[in-house]
Amino acid sequence: MDFLVLFLFYLALVLIGVVTICICSKTHYLRGLVRGGAQVISHIIPERLQRAMRKVLHYLFHTRNHTFIMLHLLLQGLVYAEYTWEVFGYCQELGFSLHYLLLPYLLLVINLVFFTLSCVSNPGTITKANEFLLLQVYEFDEVMFPKNMKCFTCSVRKPARSKHCRVCNRCVHRFDHHCVWVNNCIGAWNARYFLIYLLTLTASAATMAIVSTVFLVQLVVVSDLYLETYVDDLGHLQVIDIVFLIQYLFLTLPRIVFMLGFVVMLSFLLGGYLCFTLYLAATNQTTNEWYRGDRAWCHHCPHVARPPSAEPQVYRNIHSHGLWSNLGEIFLPAAAHCAEKMN
Ligand SMILES: [Zn+2]
Ligand SMILES: [Zn+2]
Repeated sequence: MDFLVLFLFYLALVLIGVVTICICSKTHYLRGLVRGGAQVISHIIPERLQRAMRKVLHYLFHTRNHTFIMLHLLLQGLVYAEYTWEVFGYCQELGFSLHYLLLPYLLLVINLVFFTLSCVSNPGTITKANEFLLLQVYEFDEVMFPKNMKCFTCSVRKPARSKHCRVCNRCVHRFDHHCVWVNNCIGAWNARYFLIYLLTLTASAATMAIVSTVFLVQLVVVSDLYLETYVDDLGHLQVIDIVFLIQYLFLTLPRIVFMLGFVVMLSFLLGGYLCFTLYLAATNQTTNEWYRGDRAWCHHCPHVARPPSAEPQVYRNIHSHGLWSNLGEIFLPAAAHCAEKMN
């Protein structure tokens, strides 16, 4: 019982943590919290260790590296290995349909194709050659994206909706975000690959969670486990309840139950992120624009939040032209082919 409670507590804590980070990421609370936390830690941890930690964090999040790609493939490999070696075999013995059992593999193949495309494709790098063409694609709103702005690092004029990625050191057309999991920027030309990658990853986690849950339920039903009784700590005979069943499955099939916990958590997290990405796609916003939306009140100081008394020069999304047109822009980005050829 204690183990199960602890596990559920851990699961709830992780989910609450992630949701809190998502909610706070658009406000100043998170920055304040991080700064406060860093100050407290700086008094506890020795200077040398802090420097080493800063170096590691800088390498992981501020330079292009393959660490998260490796971690991604390792986790995916472990989950699929467990599915293949235990769940798949047991399910076949219980007479599950083969089509149903092979679905996670089909999703894996599609996912790996789009994962690779997201990693290696050009997100929309702005160069001297395509700069003029890309300047024509989006209208300047004069709030978040003023006209005649220049990137002094890349020496190019910045088209509306573009941003300089400090990790990749380049300006990207319709910049969304830099994703460490694919070690690439997500921009106008690879947002479609990233969306399908996210969709298939969520679907494969959810499919595995469903297959594993159905398998465990079937196992309990076939073995008549729910009809059994047990003797509790006080020596009383008790009918098996759901908590006891879950705990029993934890002890007899630990790897499968642990994998199930992991894929269930992943399904919720990825599902939430997928909904957010679909919302941005449907409303024709990038993550960068969504994040900076409340702060872009003045184009001379774009990173400063608007004080309540300031002139209401609030950012307005001028790029949304209806659901289908917005989705079409993700899957058929304007000027992608011409500009790609010019690179
Ligand atoms: Zn630049
Ligand atoms: Zn980048």
